[in-house]
Amino acid sequence: MEIVKYGHPSLRWKAKELTELTPDFKATVRAMFDLMYEARGIGLAATQVGLPYRFFVVNTTADPEETEEELVFINPEIIRKKGNVEGEEGCLSLPELYGEVARAEEIVLEAYDIDGQGFEMECSEILARVIQHENDHLDGVLFIDRMTPDNVAELQANLDDLETQFRQAQAAGTLASDEGLKKGLSEMEKTFEFPIKATMSAGSEPADSDDE
Ligand code: ZN
Repeated sequence: MEIVKYGHPSLRWKAKELTELTPDFKATVRAMFDLMYEARGIGLAATQVGLPYRFFVVNTTADPEETEEELVFINPEIIRKKGNVEGEEGCLSLPELYGEVARAEEIVLEAYDIDGQGFEMECSEILARVIQHENDHLDGVLFIDRMTPDNVAELQANLDDLETQFRQAQAAGTLASDEGLKKGLSEMEKTFEFPIKATMSAGSEPADSDDE
């Protein structure tokens, strides 16, 4: 598993909801947290590791020791948004690129946790920002898409560099062609499942919880 970079079709993929979770799923989540810490990030979406599924991991402390701060969001849905606030963001798939992005100040979301239990969470500040950023990844939306044209223009040279690096890796054969990568994502959608948990089956609604 590795973090895919700007140019990869996975970052523009509309991810699919998970209907089942297997024990393998926990190992996948663990591997994602490890990659995220290694890259000093605070959030990582499945599409950023080439998995076309709707889940992401977050730890706003970025500290692997702070395991109690680890959050997993499966099939997340932002159900309420309030306010608007600008703040600087970066993205592990667009290394060393930062810019101001406007986000809702407060959000309420519904999701399932790593055990397949539904929950509702209300959050603000950095957690609200990272959740909105990661949730966008599941729809193939990147933070640069949310920037003003002026801000994007400032980053254009860096974006072009990233794109060039990606194309060079493809030319060198380190990475498959766009077509090959897209085919891989489609196949995975059909075959890659995380079978378990009746709680995730149709009809179960996320339950309220007091978390956060
Ligand atoms: Zn990102």
